[in-house]
This record gives sequence, structure tokens and C-alpha cells, in this order.
Amino acid sequence: MRRQIVAGNWKMNNDLAQTQTLITDLKQQTKTSKAEVKIAPAFTNLWSAFEATKETDIEVVAQTMHFADNGAFTGEVSASMLKSIGVKTVILGHSERRTYFNESDEDLAKKVNAALAHDMEIIFCIGEVLEDRAAGREEAVVAAQIKNALFHLEGEAFKTIVLAYEPVWAIGTGETASPEQAQDMHAFIRNTLASKYGDTVANTVPVLYGGSVKPSNAKEIFSKPDVDGGLIGGASLKAEDFYAIVNAF
Ligand code: PGA
Repeated sequence: MRRQIVAGNWKMNNDLAQTQTLITDLKQQTKTSKAEVKIAPAFTNLWSAFEATKETDIEVVAQTMHFADNGAFTGEVSASMLKSIGVKTVILGHSERRTYFNESDEDLAKKVNAALAHDMEIIFCIGEVLEDRAAGREEAVVAAQIKNALFHLEGEAFKTIVLAYEPVWAIGTGETASPEQAQDMHAFIRNTLASKYGDTVANTVPVLYGGSVKPSNAKEIFSKPDVDGGLIGGASLKAEDFYAIVNAF
């Protein structure tokens, strides 16, 4: 039985007061599934979110980080800084980071190494853009993203890596991959892992789906055998919607 995870990627939303309000609302929700619940507020609110969720089963995670430990990298935040406030998990390789902040596979490989060196768990995002899917190369693109950023690792490292398949054409667009499209790609991702690390690693790494997941479609997507939960953007900003998804298993 693999871990089930629902993670809310708040992106650049919610100031300090809004973060506190949303966490207060989240605490009032009831969890009826076994899913692990994670939220990723903005850097400025990580500490207050961490404090506010201390007695709960909600884990506070970061949306990105730098690969260096410290130094002349204006505007950046390191793994050791995150660890120092209690954050143990980081999202890496989100498509918005890849697109707007030019994060390359090479950068991401370094970030992965930095996170692992600090014993952090990683939610590693992969996914093709619309042109890739139209051209029938979505599998090749996703395989390359996995290989370029992760295949230098030993199999052992995958104990603290979660993958999130997020087709870029489905993020924030209202367009969702069909449950079958998600299942097909998740199975392909497992096969890709199995080809290098064997079945045990492939069958234990949680693979989340992300891209316009909402209360109305979560159940069907999560019912697919290779889908272990979701990375949720828009719908994670409302406590009731987020917990409807958390409870959709
Ligand atoms: P969305 O975002 O749920 O708003 O489509 C998902 C994500 O980018 O992680």
C-alpha cells in the first residue's frame, strides 16, 4: 500500500493574515481519508504557518529553494534555512518555476542533491506542455525530465521522493487530464523508474496528479491504480474544497 498524499500549492497567494485565516479554516475540517495533508505557503509565511499547524497533521512545505547552502544569491532561500524553521519537504521543478524562472533539469538535479543532503523530502514535478502532447511526445518529455534530474541518484534516495505529474496544459486552465490519461502517464512513470531502479522502487514511489483537480473530479482521478493523490493549486485556497479533495480517496 503506497502513501496517499494531497498537497496544496498555494503559489503566490495569501499574505500573513490570509494565511492564518486559511489555516484556521483548514483546522476546522475533518479528515476521513488516510491521505497525508501538506500545504505550501509563500516563503514569508512558512514560519507562521509552521507554528499554526504544530498540533495538527498538516505539514508545511516549501514551494522551491536554491541549491546552494548560503552565499551571494540575492532573493533565494536554502535547504538549511528551511530546515531551521522546521520545514522538511520542498516542491521542486514546478512548471511555473521551469517556465518563468528558467529552472533547467541541471539546476533541478542540483536542488534535488541539496534537498537530499539535508534529509528533506522532495515533491518533484514533471509534465509536458500542450505542443508535446499534440505531437505525441509527452512520454519522451516526461521520461527526459525524470532521467535528467533524478537518474544520477541511488535507488535508496527514492524513499524520500514523491513525483507529481502535472501536464502543463491542465494547470490553472480548468482543463484536466482525463483519469485515463493520468493513469496512462502514471503507469509510464512507474515503468521508467522500474527500468532503472527495479520494481520495488517503482511500486513504492507515490505519484501525484496535478492540474485543475477539484472536488468534482478528484474521486475519479484518485481511483486510478497508479494515482496516489494530488498536487492542488486553485482548489487548495478554500478549506472546504481542499478537504473535499483530501477525502476523495
Ligand atoms: P491548479 O494548479 O490545481 O490550479 O491547476 C496545480 C499546480 O500547479 O500545482
